[in-house]
Amino acid sequence: MPNRLIAIYPGSFDPLTNGHLDLISRATRVADHLIVAILKNSQKEPLFSTADREDMLREATAHLADVEVDSFEGLLVDYAAKRSANAILRGIRAISDYEIELQMALLNRRLRPQTETIFLMASEEYSFLSSRMVKEVFFLGGDVSPFVPAAVLKRMQSSFPKKR
Ligand code: ADP
Repeated sequence: MPNRLIAIYPGSFDPLTNGHLDLISRATRVADHLIVAILKNSQKEPLFSTADREDMLREATAHLADVEVDSFEGLLVDYAAKRSANAILRGIRAISDYEIELQMALLNRRLRPQTETIFLMASEEYSFLSSRMVKEVFFLGGDVSPFVPAAVLKRMQSSFPKKR
């Protein structure tokens, strides 16, 4: 029997964007099981709590089969071992992503060769999108509805009512 592809898509997802969601739905075509995992990073002060980010991710991915939402702290490769994952999924938007992603992929391979990093290229229509840009536009009063799933827009508007 061929190996099942169990992939972890790690990230901050603070918040989830349509670019992340596009990557997730395309990844479901190649992975047998996809775990979208929020990294609890004590060094970054997030806009949304881990629980809020998990809720938004669950709502936005509810229509996709074989997608699970989870969170983790510590080393990604340790989490991969715990979840018996054989792949890490990451997205590449531009050359600027490549350098840091290559470094992380090589480091993770050194730490745990059983886990292969797989990259999907961003779709052209989302290749400019980042969580940071969404937050900037939102807090400057701009319309972020084209950039985030409905569940995220709703949560942003209710959490920060002074902004549209
Ligand atoms: P991190 O804080 O780990 O960079 P992000 O949530 O910003 O987490 O991104 C997680 C992954 O998703 C990264 O591999 C990133 O390159 C990828 N990604 C982010 N935005 C997009 C997008 N618009 N299209 C495709 N991939 C994306």
